[in-house]
Amino acid sequence: MDPKEFRRIGHETVERIAQFYEQLAAQGLEQSDGTSGSTSSLGVPAPIPRIPVLSQVQPGYLATLIPSEAPETPEPWSAISSDIEQKIMPGITHWQSPNFFAFFPSNSSFPGILGEMYSAMFNSIGFNWQTSPAYTELEQIMCNWLAKAIGLGDAFLSSSTSSLTDGRPQLGGGIIQGSASEAIVVAIIAARQKMIDALKTDETDDAAMAVAGKLIAYGSTQTHSATKKGAMIAGVRFRALEVDPVTFSLHGETVTAAIQEDLANGLIPFYITATIGTTSSGAVDDIPGIVQAASEYNVWVNVDAAWAGSALVCAEYRHLLAGVDGVDSFSFNMHKWMLTNFDCSPMWVKNRKYLTNALSISPAFLRNAASSSGLITDYRDWQLPLGRRFRSLKIWFVVRTYGLEGIRAHIRKHIQQCIIFENHLLARPNLYKIVTQRSLALITFSIVPPSESKWSANDLTNAVCDAINADGEILVTHTVLNGVDVIRFVPGGTLTTDAHIVGACRVFDRVTAHVLSQ
Ligand code: PLP
Repeated sequence: MDPKEFRRIGHETVERIAQFYEQLAAQGLEQSDGTSGSTSSLGVPAPIPRIPVLSQVQPGYLATLIPSEAPETPEPWSAISSDIEQKIMPGITHWQSPNFFAFFPSNSSFPGILGEMYSAMFNSIGFNWQTSPAYTELEQIMCNWLAKAIGLGDAFLSSSTSSLTDGRPQLGGGIIQGSASEAIVVAIIAARQKMIDALKTDETDDAAMAVAGKLIAYGSTQTHSATKKGAMIAGVRFRALEVDPVTFSLHGETVTAAIQEDLANGLIPFYITATIGTTSSGAVDDIPGIVQAASEYNVWVNVDAAWAGSALVCAEYRHLLAGVDGVDSFSFNMHKWMLTNFDCSPMWVKNRKYLTNALSISPAFLRNAASSSGLITDYRDWQLPLGRRFRSLKIWFVVRTYGLEGIRAHIRKHIQQCIIFENHLLARPNLYKIVTQRSLALITFSIVPPSESKWSANDLTNAVCDAINADGEILVTHTVLNGVDVIRFVPGGTLTTDAHIVGACRVFDRVTAHVLSQ
């Protein structure tokens, strides 16, 4: 494909992308004539095909549509683009649908897409400063912009130093990881190395392994499974601590008790994930209490704010950051709720030395004068892979295009939409029971079985959830809280309007009535 052909096909592709988003935006919106769709430039309502949010294909569907051998000869682009429509599109679950209320949102935006396009244009592998100085420097500036925008303390900025308790200076800073899971595993590995360095009796591998073999990491029963996975990767024990049975948040006293018990059993507590906005119910852990418990025992506290972190851009949610000044690291996913295409997980540390101590290896082919000067940051030493993408570009585009005010409006819109849905539930106590109070834009609820019906609440809730998802108009997810099956409802899509929420309320009423009538 030469530049001329790329130009023609690229224009067509951009047109298709714009059309895709127009079609999704119109999903579920009724026209005045009762049809669903948008109005063309001629003023004629164009029928918009209903796009099920959940892909309706069966496992293995693609193997019957795509040859099992790679083509020996070139194929025309027309054949490839038609396959996107015929073969790939049916196998897509539409996370960008305005009727996607499942898991957590995965925001896309046009500036975010343009950032991905420019990143693909350069396609440099920016693992150290010299391999593309703009990669490193824009990333540092963006991490500082974001840290200030969400109210993280100065100690997390790459430009500022703060002091350790022993008076030694520490230099903070941010990096963009690919996912919250990566941020968590990096934090665990840094904490592991910090504890090994503090306790090993000599410089031998055996001495390091003697400490490593006793390390134990904590989360709660509500912590995302990424922490347990991170502990598995780091080869350390993991313990899930019990949470408050009503709020589902982890208390500092629980952490203290666990640390003391494990120390008494000869283990070495070294790391804990505290969550702002748990996956199941949006619970917020007692960060001040956890920091107090952990700091007494030199345990690294990492805050996982994967979803809720975006809301911190609004001053009215900053109270959720209480205690964060005392943590060692913090991350959130811009690709969830901050208008930025996957993947984009900014992570900050208070002391970058612990990352580089754990992750820096410099074979001869990676050494260069700039790195040796000590004046620059080589992000390869802050992450798992060597190569890295130009992720900061899309942040730069998104933040400049929307402005922080636009991003705040985006967050507030979804929280307001969740309130609309909450009010719908509250107005029908015979049908719906709120199980956990709304947290930002996440609410969990169950379906109330009519008295003397054949249904248990758990079975009915699951049946309604399954029927809703099979119906395809909206998508939600199920979870279990203290043995209670619940439906999670999380508005957050870039395209979701209040009308889609009203539509979702109708879907719930309709499908629940249908399930009960069977
Ligand atoms: N932490 C929390 C609280 C999450 O909700 C999620 C995913 O939804 C993750 C971590 C994992 O995110 P990622 O897919 O970016 O690894």
